[in-house]
Amino acid sequence: MTLALLLTAALASADETRARYLMGTTCTITASHDQSIERAFSEIDRIERRISSWKPESELSRVNRAPVGEPQAVSPELSELLRETVRWHRETGGAFNPLLGPLVHAWRVREEGAIPIPEALVELRKRIAIENLVLGDSTLSRMGEAQIEEGGFGKGYAIDRAVDVARAAGAKRVVIDFGGQIGAYGIERGFEVGIAHPESRERAALMLRIRDGSISTSSGSERRFRIGGRELSHIIDPRTGEPLPPSGSATVIHPSALVADILSTALYVLGPR
Ligand code: ADP
Ligand code: MG
Repeated sequence: MTLALLLTAALASADETRARYLMGTTCTITASHDQSIERAFSEIDRIERRISSWKPESELSRVNRAPVGEPQAVSPELSELLRETVRWHRETGGAFNPLLGPLVHAWRVREEGAIPIPEALVELRKRIAIENLVLGDSTLSRMGEAQIEEGGFGKGYAIDRAVDVARAAGAKRVVIDFGGQIGAYGIERGFEVGIAHPESRERAALMLRIRDGSISTSSGSERRFRIGGRELSHIIDPRTGEPLPPSGSATVIHPSALVADILSTALYVLGPR
């Protein structure tokens, strides 16, 4: 949930809009062809069942539970997606980390927040080392109690796949608003997207126009908690192991929704400089 879609102008009036609750948030799809909307929703549902850490029966959850050090058979899809996240981990100097699961749980950033004891933090930081994810040709081994966390890339990946599926099903125009991240294709005149002001989310800090591609915003004010006199956000700096304080937001426009999702989180961590 990163950005307010204030205006979806410039879509033809014949276009259909439908909404579904997927991956823990609302997904709204507008397209020039209603069958393609249903196909796109099915695709997101399929991806959620494969990569959601909230679903115990997903492939990702199964891998997260697998015995440490034992290679597990893994689908080409999950394997390729994880390879891509590891690549972005390196590109961002570690600001983005797909193995953040242990820290996300210890700080309870998905809930009301908690402060792990310092000794625990030392151990947790070892578990997120990227070397703990060993990807073979069709296998994956987790070392050192690693836990994959899809919160920073799952929705972006799903948007890319959903746009592709809608196009293949015949849609000439598609706009997806998935919990605030936008994916678009074929909007000839472009349409305007408002970036929520990080301090008062109902007002737009900036208006942007896109035709194709994705806009993702990561904001520390979106889910924040106060604990032990500190105000913290749901975005964790993997280099310190600590959640960052809410401060501004980072917006990325990129042809790939996966990359926009990853980089908005990474750039929030890296800060303005
Ligand atoms: P949203 O969930 O609104 O899309 P983000 O794209 O900024 O927000 O993703 C934040 C989520 O990503 C967190 O809830 C957590 O699951 C995960 N996360 C937090 N910090 C990082 C990080 N440094 N690298 C990778 N994933 C992260
Ligand atoms: Mg995101």
